[in-house]
This record gives sequence, structure tokens and C-alpha cells, in this order.
Amino acid sequence: MDTLFPPSLAALREALEKLPGIGPRSALRILEALLKRPELLQLLKETLERVAETVRPCRRCGFWAEGELCAICRDPHRTQPVLCVVKDPADVLAIERSQAFQGQYHVLGGVLDPLAGVGEKDLRLSELWHRLRTEGYQEVILALGTSPEAETTAFYLARQLRDWPGRLSRFASGVPVGSELQQVDPLTLSRSLRERQPFSV
Ligand SMILES: [Zn+2]
Repeated sequence: MDTLFPPSLAALREALEKLPGIGPRSALRILEALLKRPELLQLLKETLERVAETVRPCRRCGFWAEGELCAICRDPHRTQPVLCVVKDPADVLAIERSQAFQGQYHVLGGVLDPLAGVGEKDLRLSELWHRLRTEGYQEVILALGTSPEAETTAFYLARQLRDWPGRLSRFASGVPVGSELQQVDPLTLSRSLRERQPFSV
């Protein structure tokens, strides 16, 4: 059946199938929808190009930004001297949905995972140390999820921050073991933020 596809369509289908949650059948349905509605295809083309050209990690926190700084780093009202360390940009959105946090974020860009080849140099760690030296935070909250790799990373960070004078804490239980922050509902997230526990090694 593959030979029936014009090459450009075959390439698009292949690209779609690389996206999370999209199998061969959904890829085909998306193709169909796009070909039926040329204006949608055009809109997608233009927005994808714009995203590819303009969206970069925020220079300061690593969240999505157009230009140097993201919307959170540019917000003058976020003055709480607390830095919440998360794994991915989507975790920032998950915590923001809970409306329970008024501090700043730091996106690590992953967690330590030697089996997958993710080491210290692959995470935004030097940026984190720099921010802790220069931005005057009084507390760091680790919100990395509860996977074994997240645990390893939390202990690694706690060891590195042993001499940092501020408070180190992490999300209270309530985030189910092995889960990603993004899968947790806002209410649970806000509770586990409120009931965060001191953390040290
Ligand atoms: Zn930012």
C-alpha cells in the first residue's frame, strides 16, 4: 500500500507517526483532514514555520519563549523568592494550572538517566547554579515527578546544594509513584505544593 502514496504524502505520514500518541491510523486520518481542507494545511504550514523560527528556550529559565525571556520571567508580579525546578516545559504549564505558585521556574530539560545516555552535561545545571548564586532565592522546590530517574536526580541536586544557604524542599506525596507531573490534576498539584516537605541528603 505504501507505493500508492505520492512520496510527499508518504513523508508527511511518516513524520506524523513520529509524534507521541499518533499511530498509523491517526496519521492517515490527519492526512485526510489536511487534504480536504487546504486552508488548514496552509495554517499548519505557516504556524509550524513560525514556531521553528521563533520559539527558543527562555535564556533564564528554559521554558518556551519567543525572544530572550518567557512570559513568566517577564512578569514583574512574580516576586516570591522561590525557584521551582522541573523536568520539562510542560511541567511549568501543569503547575501554573494549579494557580498555587507565584515564584520562578527552572526547566532542567530532562532528568539524569544513564541508561538513556542523559548525564549532568545534558541538563541545564550550570544555568541553575548561576541563578542560585545571583538571583537571591530563599527556597528551591524540586518538582521532578516520581520516576526512579527523577528520584536519582533529586538526590543528586540535594547533594550539590548541600552548602546552599536557602531551604530545599520537594513536592509532598500525592503525586503518584512513577508518574509525570503533567498527568497529575491541578488540585493534587496545588496540595502537594502547599504541603511540600523539607528535603536533604
Ligand atoms: Zn523564563
